[in-house]
Amino acid sequence: MSAEIIDGKKIAGQIKEELKQEIAIFKNKGRTPGLATVLVGDDPASASYVRMKEKMCNELGMLTKSFKLPAATKESELLSLINDLKIDHEIHGILVQLPLPEQIDERKIINSIPENKDVDGLHPTSWGKMMKGEDSFLPCTPAGIQELLIRSGHNPEQKHVVIVGRSQIVGLPLANILVRKMPGANATVTVCHTGTKDISQFTKQADILVSAIGRPEVVTAEMVNENAVVIDVGVNRVEASETKKGYRLIGDVHFESVSQKVRAITPVPGGVGPMTIIMLMKNTVKSAKQTIF
Ligand code: NAP
Repeated sequence: MSAEIIDGKKIAGQIKEELKQEIAIFKNKGRTPGLATVLVGDDPASASYVRMKEKMCNELGMLTKSFKLPAATKESELLSLINDLKIDHEIHGILVQLPLPEQIDERKIINSIPENKDVDGLHPTSWGKMMKGEDSFLPCTPAGIQELLIRSGHNPEQKHVVIVGRSQIVGLPLANILVRKMPGANATVTVCHTGTKDISQFTKQADILVSAIGRPEVVTAEMVNENAVVIDVGVNRVEASETKKGYRLIGDVHFESVSQKVRAITPVPGGVGPMTIIMLMKNTVKSAKQTIF
């Protein structure tokens, strides 16, 4: 039997409409939420993510200030830009697209973003608050996954969520968010990684399986149970000479076989990706509210 397809694009669209209404309230007061995007270098995937974020800002009628810096940018130059953005009253959120070129210490850059403009939710203070269950900006991809689960009718409360991947932008914060004792969370969470012996033993037990590995189609039908809800975070470029771009995007999950077995699944693209972008907008609007109202 074919699984229910969890449509991230559609759910992100609903949140977009809600945000438009919130933004209209700002406009009535002559104000606009503003996001600064910073791209260092010319990695095509990063450039495309930033373009999508800027496009969404424009569609929502938000202000964007876009900074494109060369790959050879010094750490001190990037820090200086962030310092300027800190005091820019039109800017409520600062997004520095990761990864950064190797001469720049990513941690230093993340730590330099002021907490009140940390709309990517990666600053250690935001993390501390997230872990303590205090109000903060949650990292966009895990926050988007939580929202996607809730809005698609697969609330993670009391479920066993198995996450494969423990990165700082997906797996680790998602585990923290879903284990919290609060509505829309309160799950039992297992985190697997390259140190896990026999991952299948855990993935088979999952009510909700989240794959954030970054390897094409490594999650197969034998690794899941029939009742599982599968969230595929992976975005992997694979060669496809028949396409105009010469590649196509696929997830970590072998969609064709897994979607025949499980209860529900997200597609790639069109699952988690649109949620990540809309949560960034939501965080920016939240930041603007805290400053303006
Ligand atoms: P990452 O930093 O490379 O982390 C990958 C994680 O997967 C690591 O924890 C790693 O374990 C684990 N892992 C790798 N191979 C494994 C294997 N064979 N078995 C078990 N665990 C394995 O990647 P990321 O930044 O979290 O991104 C993961 C994927 O999600 C990528 O494809 C990325 O493009 C995508 N992504 C999508 C969005 C979106 O909005 N759609 C957002 C963010 C990321 P160790 O810790 O032991 O190395």
